[in-house]
Amino acid sequence: MPVRFLTGVGPARARAFARLGVKTVGDLLEYFPRDWMFTPPAIKINEIRPGDNVTITGVVESTDFQSYRRQPIFEAIIADNTGVCRIVWFHGGFLRSQLKVGQVIMASGKVELYKHQLQMTNPKFLVLDEGHSAWPDPAEYFSGGVYPASAKLSGRQIKRIIRPLLDNLDELVSEFYDKTFLRRANLISRKNAFCWIHLPPDEEKLAAAKRRLKYDELFLMQLGLALRRVGRQHFSAAEPMRRSEKIDSRIRKRFPFLLTEDQNKVIDEIAADMAKPEPMNRLLQGDVGSGKTVVALYAALLAVANKKQAAIMAPTEILAAQHFLSIERYLKNSTVRRALCIGGLTGKKRVELLGRIRRGEIDIVVGTVALLEKDVKFYKLGLVVIDEQHKFGVYQRAQLRKDTTPHCLVMTATPIPRTLAMTAFGDLDVSIITHSPPGRGIVSTRWVDRHNRQKAYEFIRERLKGFGAGGGPKNQAYFVCPRITTVEQEGSSLAKKGRARTGDDVKAATDEWRKLSAEVFPEFTVELLHGQMPSEKKQQIMAKFRKGKIDVLVTTVVIEVGVDVPNATIMVIEGADRFGLAQLHQLRGRIGRGAAKSYCLLFAETESEVAKNRLEIMTRSNDGFEIAEYDLRLRGPGELFSTRQHGLPDLKIANIIDDYELLTFARKNAFELASRDPMLIKAEHRNIRQALLTKFGDSLGLADVA
Ligand code: ADP
Ligand code: MG
Repeated sequence: MPVRFLTGVGPARARAFARLGVKTVGDLLEYFPRDWMFTPPAIKINEIRPGDNVTITGVVESTDFQSYRRQPIFEAIIADNTGVCRIVWFHGGFLRSQLKVGQVIMASGKVELYKHQLQMTNPKFLVLDEGHSAWPDPAEYFSGGVYPASAKLSGRQIKRIIRPLLDNLDELVSEFYDKTFLRRANLISRKNAFCWIHLPPDEEKLAAAKRRLKYDELFLMQLGLALRRVGRQHFSAAEPMRRSEKIDSRIRKRFPFLLTEDQNKVIDEIAADMAKPEPMNRLLQGDVGSGKTVVALYAALLAVANKKQAAIMAPTEILAAQHFLSIERYLKNSTVRRALCIGGLTGKKRVELLGRIRRGEIDIVVGTVALLEKDVKFYKLGLVVIDEQHKFGVYQRAQLRKDTTPHCLVMTATPIPRTLAMTAFGDLDVSIITHSPPGRGIVSTRWVDRHNRQKAYEFIRERLKGFGAGGGPKNQAYFVCPRITTVEQEGSSLAKKGRARTGDDVKAATDEWRKLSAEVFPEFTVELLHGQMPSEKKQQIMAKFRKGKIDVLVTTVVIEVGVDVPNATIMVIEGADRFGLAQLHQLRGRIGRGAAKSYCLLFAETESEVAKNRLEIMTRSNDGFEIAEYDLRLRGPGELFSTRQHGLPDLKIANIIDDYELLTFARKNAFELASRDPMLIKAEHRNIRQALLTKFGDSLGLADVA
């Protein structure tokens, strides 16, 4: 029922409510107070102990307005039949016309001793007219919710409109669960929860009300996710992929090393998913260099062994090309047909490749997300792998579900906090690689300031030359150039992001390249790589760098230095104070790929405490999960944890960090329910179904369920 049918709500107020997001009576019931008042007990004046919060009722004996004070005060002396108390209102001039000697008032607030006299300051009060035969219950006046108001609608007005609804809760609120469950879960009834959240008799009942309403909110969200997932499992079919020992050992022979324990565990999880006739939806987390590509290739080869195609997609063309190259290395002399499909490919060649993909003449296609575009048709796409690097969230779930339902594996190098894994990614299964493969050289990170810059250049020079007279292994270096905006500025104006920066960092990199090649390292080959270069040129430079024909590669971050070059043992990050922690860690992951020791040099001058903290953490830790934790703490949770940012509805009362325990509990129950009744058709789930569709139907795309 629209709010405008309520007493006290005309068209104007209905509009004001709409602006607060309240359209229906249901919305109004869920318009929760932002704070609550509790009426102190009503007592006689002679029972007051200084320091107490009390409610007193008495006759106004005298009033006085002292306008000459720096803070003008209005004061009244009131008396009951046991004593007198002084009441003071700062800036209380407006009371001159309201409070008259002889009136009876009820006042509620804290009483202190001031110059040997009882004094109550800035109380809430109510003038009782002569019609009051008995003293009213103060709770009725001084307690209940404090509502977020707007210019058109005061908190008091909102309260007055909500209050009568609380007498009709039997009709307005329906229960979701049976009594046994409520008792076991220690939850109060929904009806009581709505009553007490607006008008709590005491703190304890308020807490119980909050707990119940938070639970419901989290439960419904999780149920939406669960149904989405169960729906995918039950109502979309995928090709089951068989894994035999023969297939397994044939795939393993492709790798010149033994897979790590973590890789094996994750591969088992993936193979078990792929063996089912329903699509896999799995998220694979693992730090940069932890060996995810190998896992992805294993899955792809499993699909190929089952006569299906696999598509591997990266966020940028350079990364796609990099994936393709490493896959080529593993698949040398193999009969598996593979192709790289990126933007550089045009005209006839592109048409020809698309034809081969469509006819099933290619087994593994590597590319960017552009592979999802309409003109790319597959013969039998059995697996999609999306490597998001640290850009998780790019993944467009809906797009993948068009005609076929391949198994889907999303990989991310960004450790996802457990709360996000349960919400934003709550309908995916999660696999984690914790330990990286052995034999990695250590990466030592230093913060270099202006005074040590020259020394750092000399240090780099020595390593670029290689060791010893015989010229041991030559090292290569990345110089990553700063962006112009800092992380802090960027946070404050997201709109600016991307636009202003792109050109600026190209200029910075170009300047740096000139300086390094002409002045600092004239004896070495120094090359420039940035995002505005044509795709072919980028590939060329990367190939040269990989072959060791470039000593120093100057780049911007825009292009993501997503390359695997074991001889690259040095990374200089210019203006390192301008980068976020996640990105610094991500960049650093590009060195330390071989057995030799690597060096990450953070060039930075900064007075900012936050930036200093970031740099210090970087010099101290190499652990991606640890760094992500710090990142959260330094940035505050808001940014990462706004559910809306991840395509989920915002929560009104629950908070996924503070209410983590409740979230886990709600999730377990929701997933259980979804597996028992995936269409929510059982009679006892009618109320839940109704509430779910009203609340999250649109945002979670539950139309199928409806
Ligand atoms: P990620 O994709 O997680 O960044 P990659 O799969 O690219 O990591 O692996 C990083 C490097 O580690 C590659 O050079 C790869 O050859 C190597 N590698 C992967 N798995 C193993 C392993 N089990 N043992 C030794 N080296 C490995
Ligand atoms: Mg990788």
